[in-house]
Amino acid sequence: MRVMAQMAMVMNLDKCIGCHTCSVTCKQAWTNRNGMEYVWFNNVETRPGLGYPRRWQDQEEWKGGWTLKNGHLQLKTGGRLQKLLNIFSNPKMPGMDDYYEPWTYDYETLLNAPLQKNFPVAQPHSLITGKTMNVKWSANWDDDLGGAQEYAPKDPMLKGIEDKVKFEFEKTFMFYLPRICEHCLNPACAASCPSGAIYKREEDGIVLVDQDKCRGWRMCVSGCPYKKVYFNHKTGKAEKCTFCYPRIEVGIPTVCSETCVGRLRYIGIILYDPDKVLAAASVEDDQALYEAQLGCFLDPFDPEVQRAAEQQGIPMDWMEAARKSPVRRLIQDYKVALPLHPEYRTMPMVWYVPPLSPVVDVVKDTGHDAEEMGNLFGAIDALRIPVEYLAGLFTAGDIEPVNGVLRKLAAMRSYMRDINLGRDPDASIPEAVG
Ligand code: SF4
Ligand code: SF4
Repeated sequence: MRVMAQMAMVMNLDKCIGCHTCSVTCKQAWTNRNGMEYVWFNNVETRPGLGYPRRWQDQEEWKGGWTLKNGHLQLKTGGRLQKLLNIFSNPKMPGMDDYYEPWTYDYETLLNAPLQKNFPVAQPHSLITGKTMNVKWSANWDDDLGGAQEYAPKDPMLKGIEDKVKFEFEKTFMFYLPRICEHCLNPACAASCPSGAIYKREEDGIVLVDQDKCRGWRMCVSGCPYKKVYFNHKTGKAEKCTFCYPRIEVGIPTVCSETCVGRLRYIGIILYDPDKVLAAASVEDDQALYEAQLGCFLDPFDPEVQRAAEQQGIPMDWMEAARKSPVRRLIQDYKVALPLHPEYRTMPMVWYVPPLSPVVDVVKDTGHDAEEMGNLFGAIDALRIPVEYLAGLFTAGDIEPVNGVLRKLAAMRSYMRDINLGRDPDASIPEAVG
């Protein structure tokens, strides 16, 4: 057995308030430079919504050009020349419109406008051309729509559940999805780079771009299904989230974790067997991929794993960190965290605790939020956020694992509420939800 350590993150979506502090502090630390104006290593998406870059989840078109071979995403068409041609013809290379043209305001005009009936209004101007812009779309444009019907079909995760998200007050829903590079176990960005510039660090699995080797092909930009590699227009090189490795190396957390207002980001080490990764990524059934990825992880308490880790020179303090890791507990022990789009087969390593939204139907009858024990199992269908939507994000549409997580979260909330109110908690809850 081979043992490798991976830095990973779990984000608890119930706690995200969409303040974008993480994005801004990350930008100040890493992408506050010319050529990187539009780049957000960390971004926070409004869901339902088009995401950033726009429609990054809509894989249908570019899927036609790619295929899965031995667990790797590869261009379908053979020959080296054809592959080079495909760099330029890949229909899903995001354009500036899909990100947004960075803009600013002329604050003089904004602040010194003459007194008038309405608030002063000013058109933004482009940071690139300096010209006045008529902005029609940008990241988080979806904030005000809250799943409104006219936008619903554009979020691919809403396909098939349009009737559940009609623009009716009681049915609208919204939540935030913070995103960074997934530091995948099977990174498509590295597999698609013709220059071999993208590599996965052996010691902690962080995926980086070697700036000296990068030749600006941008195949990583189109090749990453999460669209988390960006092209620096000034240097002509690709750049991406580094998991703040210079901070990690001296024992401090990533900027986004440290500054997160909701304290929702957990980081830590998880152990995996690299020999299982490609087989797991090749599992044909999309809905089996969550379990397949779980199967790659190793138990740091298992004596066999400890022995193998020792033989392979994994530092003992890393083993200790893996045992204590909150990420490992949430993913492996409690099984309340799920991967984002496991069907992309890159084995992503930023996982999410899905949001437990209020129960809408039961509220009307009882005035309660249906999280008392008796309602736990009946109420999942009545959650404001359709379980199908969450399953589209986290389990390739399989609602069972998502239901399992939501029940655990509801049970925990009910249990803790009883304790906090000085009542005896229902002792059957922990067993009932596993
Ligand atoms: Fe590479 Fe994209 Fe995976 Fe990040 S999310 S490691 S950029 S394939
Ligand atoms: Fe969400 Fe935390 Fe980022 Fe604020 S700082 S948007 S709470 S992830």
